[in-house]
Amino acid sequence: MKNFFRVFSLFLVISVLFSCASNPYAPTNRMYKKQAKVLTKQLRQFPPEQSGIAATLPYGENWVGTTNFNLRKPNYVVIHHTAQESVDQTLKTFTLPRTQVSAHYVIGKDGTIYNMLNDYYRAWHGGVGKWGNNTDLNSSSIGIELDNTGEEEFSNLQIESLLQLLKVLKEKYTIPDANFIGHSDIAPSRKVDPNPNFPWKKLAEEGYGLWYDEVVAMPETINDSLISELPVVEVGMIPEDENEIIAKTETTDGFTMEVSPEIALRIIGYDTSDLDSAIKAFKLHFIQKDINAVLSDEELKILDNLYKKYL
Ligand SMILES: [Zn+2]
Repeated sequence: MKNFFRVFSLFLVISVLFSCASNPYAPTNRMYKKQAKVLTKQLRQFPPEQSGIAATLPYGENWVGTTNFNLRKPNYVVIHHTAQESVDQTLKTFTLPRTQVSAHYVIGKDGTIYNMLNDYYRAWHGGVGKWGNNTDLNSSSIGIELDNTGEEEFSNLQIESLLQLLKVLKEKYTIPDANFIGHSDIAPSRKVDPNPNFPWKKLAEEGYGLWYDEVVAMPETINDSLISELPVVEVGMIPEDENEIIAKTETTDGFTMEVSPEIALRIIGYDTSDLDSAIKAFKLHFIQKDINAVLSDEELKILDNLYKKYL
């Protein structure tokens, strides 16, 4: 019996050593744990440490901690393509401190999912961005990177794994349908990922993101009485007068949109401070061809149909 335990312990030691040796990321995993420890210490601090002006606030005499709380939850998912040559290259990039970039998940072309960060931590995947009035998407989102050079198709295996992962995340954190978005959506003037091959429509059909009705409003369905005397703005034009922003927009075939493209894009969530970029990002996500800053009649109708789903 004694011998059995000796052999068993030896086996354990060898298997631990072997598993460490076989994982080339063991050193950076140790850095992960160290960083998690620092953050845990920060969370455990009570009373919360105050510095600077926060320390001078008129706090009560006693510190009173509530008994009712849990961790904050992510409420968005931001999807990216890696624009790198291989999944190994991306794993390397996300484990080099000097790159200052990361994501919660990386999905390879073969469908393998790498969970690089606990969902409750803040990954550095979004950078400067805005969606609606949310200006810190890194704090409120899960970042998912898909291995893709930037021009490639996304493999079926990769998309299948993504859908399985999205199901888990959506259910676990009760993420609304509309909050599954792309990097280019939140940073239209800087980013073009995921590329136009990304199956946003398929995702929307499964409840991840919104999509327009394929049969969009045609001119004959427009009620004439709805056409007001508000000025009509040209597509892509930024009105000088603020009142004109809510102006109706008319397509060349007589279709009238109740708001300007700028307002419609803003309702969806786009940062329209650079309107041309916002239109391009909209087209990258919802049109997926002719990605320029011009909205055709058909695209305007799609935009009209879509923004109402976000109201
Ligand atoms: Zn990205």
